Amino acid sequence: MEPWNIQRSSDLYRIDGWGAGYFKINEQGNVAVSPHGNEQSVDLYGIVENLVRRGVKAPLLIRFDGIIRDRARQIQGAFKKAIAECEYNGSYTLTYPVKVNQQRQVVESVKLCANGSGIGLEVGSKPELLAVLAMHDNSAKEALLLCNGYKDAQLIELALLSKKLGLRPIIIVEQFYELDTILKAAQEVGVDPEIGLRMNPAYRGAGRWAGSAGENAKFGLTPYEIVEAIKLLEQHGKLDCVKLLHFHMGSQITAISAIKRVLKEATRMYAEIARMCPSLSYLDVGGGLGVDYDGSSTNFESSMNYTLEQYAGDVVWELRQMCDECGLPHPNIISESGRALVAHHAVLVTEVLDVAHFEAPPQQLPPPPTDDEKLHELYVLFKDLNLKNLHETFNDAQGLREQFLTNFVAGTINLEERAYAERVLRFLFTRINDLKEGLKVVPEDIEVLESVLRDMYFCNFSIFQSLLDSWAIEQLFPIIPIHRLNQEPTRKAVIADLTCDSDGKIDRFIDLREVKRYLNLHPFHPDNPYFLGVFLVGAYQECLGNLHNLFGDTNAIHVEIDEEGQPRISSIVEGDTIREVLQHVQYSPDDLLSRINNSIEFARRQNGLSAEDAAGIVRRYKENLNGYTYLQWNMQGS
Ligand code: PLP
Repeated sequence: MEPWNIQRSSDLYRIDGWGAGYFKINEQGNVAVSPHGNEQSVDLYGIVENLVRRGVKAPLLIRFDGIIRDRARQIQGAFKKAIAECEYNGSYTLTYPVKVNQQRQVVESVKLCANGSGIGLEVGSKPELLAVLAMHDNSAKEALLLCNGYKDAQLIELALLSKKLGLRPIIIVEQFYELDTILKAAQEVGVDPEIGLRMNPAYRGAGRWAGSAGENAKFGLTPYEIVEAIKLLEQHGKLDCVKLLHFHMGSQITAISAIKRVLKEATRMYAEIARMCPSLSYLDVGGGLGVDYDGSSTNFESSMNYTLEQYAGDVVWELRQMCDECGLPHPNIISESGRALVAHHAVLVTEVLDVAHFEAPPQQLPPPPTDDEKLHELYVLFKDLNLKNLHETFNDAQGLREQFLTNFVAGTINLEERAYAERVLRFLFTRINDLKEGLKVVPEDIEVLESVLRDMYFCNFSIFQSLLDSWAIEQLFPIIPIHRLNQEPTRKAVIADLTCDSDGKIDRFIDLREVKRYLNLHPFHPDNPYFLGVFLVGAYQECLGNLHNLFGDTNAIHVEIDEEGQPRISSIVEGDTIREVLQHVQYSPDDLLSRINNSIEFARRQNGLSAEDAAGIVRRYKENLNGYTYLQWNMQGS
């Protein structure tokens, strides 16, 4: 076989599948990032090394704002092309639902993405509204502000008043009772409301969030409520306020067939409402445009079986068909494509701190240390293992494992005997795992060994803070080393985070077919830093992240490419200090320090604590209080 090379790494980690043209491997064997999806690229490992030398510690969330701009260009470009090809008369406006990532810098990047067709912002809560009201560009030609989610009079009044600032708020009715509040609020602030109706499609989307649509969905009006809403508005002489029909079929829709099905229902609904409300002029197709996290282009939940162009083409085509059939003008199209816009732009970089190695079984086992009968049974099981008796041996070994534990607790085997048993059992399970490749069908209980018998790479990050969806909904993200990609990754590993939680690990990885139970990594030497990148983490992860174990926000770094094609750090947003996370859970740093001083006084009186030790305790306590919540490893430059 040819020696290991970067192409083999690229194939192994499936970078071309999920990288969307933004990520590849350069000649040095490092991950290269092309924020504009073209030839110009920057060396991710170089950026990380540089930051670490400057004292900016990992874990690092590295944001390439250029990727957001490029994604916007691509989404807008796909709709522009579809509109031209279908000779469609309406326009398209990309609208960013800020809940997908509310960080100010992200919203600011999105704002720069109007590209001549405007950019809308969508909010789903009061805090989001307040942020967007101040951030939205009221000098733009049409600064769309869509208000979704539950609303009260306060929220609606403020949203409506933004019209006087020059924005274009459209209040989307999610629940029937909101109509009354909107009408009253509009009167109160003297603004003619523009209203959207959110329908609840009976057809479901596809993928993990299919339940966002369908009869039991949380949001949206039933057909009966839509008819009643129109009647109510007519009674108030406000029929011409109805401007928009909205639906949302769930996020990360994996199958184009599901999208088409819901589109057919929604476009029919549009035509029916337009018949009753001639002012209707927008169809807002919500979110759902997927991201191919595993690069398999399938309808697996981490993937999508369609392209951006097919999505845009289907939306425009279905709408055109329906409107032409019903003799209606073509409406303007809005999509609230959040994940597809921002997922690619952020990479979480973490360094490996340590590895618990998995030892390969020896050719010959040492004999049992005593003449315990069960130990000898185990010894024979190991010696006689073959493909034919594989499953039987596995079951027998499981039984013996139980037995050894019972015997140890009962005191009938000693620690030395238990240690021997445990070690041989591990060797035996490893052999079974290796041999199982020869089975036609691998039994499920044996399949699990894939993730159990692996090296464990301990990494400096918290899954609960930085990759919540990996824990909460088993979402897969592409994870690869960001350097050494010209060397063969000879170890099979799972990843453990810093939290004291057995769930704080990743043992499911992307693969062409379903899920891989280990990740190929390079051997780790404590003297050489080893960095892993978790890619496509720009959507949803940050605000969902929590302070489990009080690991706080990571350092976030914004990187742009300058005119010479060099990386330029446009901003460094420092992660939380220990002081900040402690304050978050109601500890006052001053009070903590005074308690430490009281303890010191007590220890000086009672235990003779020396003045030097007292000073050392206070100094270290203060240093840590102002330090990063993550570990500071003794590595090059750190
Ligand atoms: N619009 C609404 C109403 C949503 O609830 C969501 C998310 O679930 C979105 C847009 C964003 O969806 P996506 O990130 O799939 O584009």
